[in-house]
Amino acid sequence: MRDYNAVFVAGGTTLIDLMKLDVMTPAALVDINGLPLDNIDNMPDGSVRIGAMVRNSDLAHDPTVATRFPVLSQALLSGASPQLRNVATTGGNLMQRTRCYYFRDTAYACNKRQPGAGCAAIDGYNRIHAVLGGSDHCIATHPSDMAVAMVALDAVVHIQGKDGERTVSAGEFHLLPGKTPHRETVVQPGELITYVTVPQSPFAAHSAYVKLRDRASYEFALASAAAALELEGNRIRSVRLVLGGVATKPWRSHEAERVLHGATADEKTVRDAAEAAMNGATPHRHNAFKVELAKRAIVRALKNAIQSTGEKQS
Ligand code: SF4
Repeated sequence: MRDYNAVFVAGGTTLIDLMKLDVMTPAALVDINGLPLDNIDNMPDGSVRIGAMVRNSDLAHDPTVATRFPVLSQALLSGASPQLRNVATTGGNLMQRTRCYYFRDTAYACNKRQPGAGCAAIDGYNRIHAVLGGSDHCIATHPSDMAVAMVALDAVVHIQGKDGERTVSAGEFHLLPGKTPHRETVVQPGELITYVTVPQSPFAAHSAYVKLRDRASYEFALASAAAALELEGNRIRSVRLVLGGVATKPWRSHEAERVLHGATADEKTVRDAAEAAMNGATPHRHNAFKVELAKRAIVRALKNAIQSTGEKQS
């Protein structure tokens, strides 16, 4: 991002903050608030197409989203504050940057802000950092709630570039830090998110989002979980389980999904799934508590999803 000479500004809830802190210093801003990308459309194939400029509050309270995709509505309403949700956009939410305190303070070394500078968090105070998906170069968590739900719903991101439109699944939109933590998404310079499509889904009828954090509002997740299930009686026919607050990107747990797939929807199954999800966690000095916290978020999200009576997808 620092290489860009110009950056798009929509709600500005991340960008303006980071400009005030001198973390992002674009030469120019391109205001995209006038673009006609603020509709939520029910498509003939049963999917819902969400414009990149749709505000988080409008999306959360949209009747279709609230009834057919409860996990998305719940995730949006758990994020930020009502004032911020009124201006934050769908596209901007996907593009928001980490809350790592060292990233946001230019007095500290940060590979994400300045490639090759080092990472002050790995041997520093890392209570809020990732236990999944980290590297020797960066252990910052991805802060979005909405993106976690989008991955659980198999959403597709539409990206417009100078050579036309391309699409990428929400699960592949964010990148692991590896050796290049400054590269956070698949979006290339000059490209713009235009829409996100949420397909008609067998998972969405029973879905839920649970977020655990230091205070009840206006706070980022220490651990969160989005669960979406297709039930056949008491049997889990298919499932998506995605974690937030504990990983460097919205983290789909295939390990937990393997435990859940085909199993009876009961206490033992959801606890076994939580254990499987966190088996590969690598805590740091100050954040080992996140492993247990994430398990509890997973158990609660799965139980809420199993018990929910969300509208069936036709
Ligand atoms: Fe920077 Fe990532 Fe290290 Fe935080 S964890 S200081 S964002 S490199």
